[in-house]
Amino acid sequence: MSVRVTKLTECASCGAEIEPAATGRPRETCGDRCRQALWRKREAEVRKREAQWHRGEQRREEPGRRSIQDLRRAFFSGSAEEQRAKRDEIARRLRERDLELRRQRDRCLAESEVAA
Ligand SMILES: [Zn+2]
Repeated sequence: MSVRVTKLTECASCGAEIEPAATGRPRETCGDRCRQALWRKREAEVRKREAQWHRGEQRREEPGRRSIQDLRRAFFSGSAEEQRAKRDEIARRLRERDLELRRQRDRCLAESEVAA
């Protein structure tokens, strides 16, 4: 508990001790100068991360991206015949799903007509 209090009364920019705010949100910095410096530092970190993202350095770490690449590789692997078979299988599943959704919609419409 005492550690937490000490942290709250340390300037997040220069580390100087600051008096805790009497009311409202605990103060993060000792003054305007440090508050602005901290804001600029955080802005720079955001810009740096954005730049990394645009260069593709972080894209590899994105969750889910790897599995999409694996899927793509799996889909485009194999002979033309195998790829056609995979496409047909996906199309068949989509048609089944479409039919099932239409059946569900019709059931809902029928039920609402009975209720009305
Ligand atoms: Zn400070």
